[in-house]
Order: sequence, then structure tokens, then C-alpha cells
Amino acid sequence: MKTPEVSFESIPSSAISKTTLRICLKCAFDVFTKQLKLTPRTAYSELKKHAPEEVDITGAATSRPHFFEEPDVDHCPYCNGTKRWFAQFHVTRIDANPSFEKERKKLWAALKKQPERYTIWSPERTQMQIFSEWLERLNRSLRFDDDSWLLESAISHIKRSAPSNDWDKVLASGVRRVQLSRQVEDAWHYEDGWLYVSPALYGDVIMVQHLISRSHQHGGRTFEGRLTFQELMRRLRRIGYFEAKGITANEPYEEFEEAIGRLVDSGPRAVYYAVDRKDYLNKLKAIYEKKRDK
Ligand SMILES: [Zn+2]
Repeated sequence: MKTPEVSFESIPSSAISKTTLRICLKCAFDVFTKQLKLTPRTAYSELKKHAPEEVDITGAATSRPHFFEEPDVDHCPYCNGTKRWFAQFHVTRIDANPSFEKERKKLWAALKKQPERYTIWSPERTQMQIFSEWLERLNRSLRFDDDSWLLESAISHIKRSAPSNDWDKVLASGVRRVQLSRQVEDAWHYEDGWLYVSPALYGDVIMVQHLISRSHQHGGRTFEGRLTFQELMRRLRRIGYFEAKGITANEPYEEFEEAIGRLVDSGPRAVYYAVDRKDYLNKLKAIYEKKRDK
């Protein structure tokens, strides 16, 4: 009986980040057969257990035999092997929120039924780490040569603040502007390409923009222009942000810290990884059989 394909579609797309990691099977076999002097058969049975680690996936310390997919890379960066040695790992990371925990558990139960194909794990993370990692990923995915990143980062945050599969439908015709509104009943309202957001959500957006652009040249850019820390705090106060969020600190740095704390607390609580090893296992087998039959 064929096992059905597992679908990740029940998880809101704003909570998912995907990475394709390549592996060079020539390098991988060489470690076992040349360095450790094992037979191809033993190498094969060892390699069948292999999955990349988180440091390979995030790029923090991607090491041989792994590397990232790039269109013009057709030789292994380590051994210069050709493309026929390449295999792919499709990695899905989920930043999990209680609002879709039921779906996440169901998905995990389905993945567990295919332990050969899927390697799954949940690394320990504080909510603050999850938040910082999200900012980093967002930072890497944006282009800062014009102002379009302001809108993109705003939409990313808004989707993340209320993870849902409906966003793609709601925003199907695109967002031209994110507009502060004191009239919206909930956190946001979409109409004719404009996304109207409450003072609390608008303030969060500006905070996120400020945090992202802080590390850049001419940093501190937001929808409200380029702001110093003091200007940011004044602007947030004028919007009614601290009031809306019930933040009562007396001093700007305390207000800022409390605001960040709220932002972090309202976000995802746990991280889950699923590595799809299908392509890897198939190519590994094909290469092993060729080696064996030689
Ligand atoms: Zn290689």
C-alpha cells in the first residue's frame, strides 16, 4: 500500500519557514569509505540514518557535506563533484502558536508514521529566542534598496500576530498601504488594498520596523520616517500605543522593554522541525547500488 503524502497545509503559512538544503553524496560516502575505511555497504547503512542538524539548516554553521541551493552552483563546493551527486533535504520549520496547536499535533502524528522519511524534532527555545530568530529571518528575506521592505515587514508581522490560513484569501488582491485607524473594531480591517490597523497593532509594526532596520546603515526607519529611540517613543505615545497595550512604565527604556516583552509573549511558544529525506534516501540508494555493482 502506498503511504499518502503528508500535507502541511493545515498550518498557517506565516508560521512556516522552508529551507532546501543540499548534500553532496560523493563527500558523504568519502567520509566513510576513504577516511574511516569502511565498506560501501556499511557506509550506506550509516548514511541512511543521516539528517542535517539545525546549525546546517539555519546557515549558522553549514558544514561539509551540506550546502545551500543556489541556481548557478552545479559543482560541490567541497569536492567539486558534479550535480549527479547532489540530493536535497526539504526542511520545514514551524513556529507554533496555541491557536493552531491542534493542527500541529495532528500533522506531527502523521509525520511520525513515516519515521524513515521524516526526521522531526523540537529544539528548546525561549519565546525571546523565537522572536529574535524570526526578526533575523525577516531581515535576511527583505531587500533594503527601496522602501518596499516597510510594507513587507508590516504584513509579515500582522500575519504573524494572528496566524491564520485565511490571510492568503483576505489579502489576495494585495496590500498597498497599512493605515493606522482608531475606528477598527478588532485589530485590523481590510478594504480595497488598504489594511487598517488598531493603534496597538500599528505600534507593534513600527517597533518591528525599528528593530529590523536598527542594524542597517541609516537605521531606525519606520512608516513614520526615520526615528531615533526618543522619537520612536514619543511617536508611540502619541499614537496611544502604550495606553492601548496597558503599559504603565514611567521611563522610556522601561516602556520599550515592556513593549518588547508583550510583543514576544504574544508570539509563538515553540519551534518544530521536520526534515523530508525522501529525495536523499532515493539518491543515496541509487548511488550505493552503482558503487556496489562496480
Ligand atoms: Zn562533494
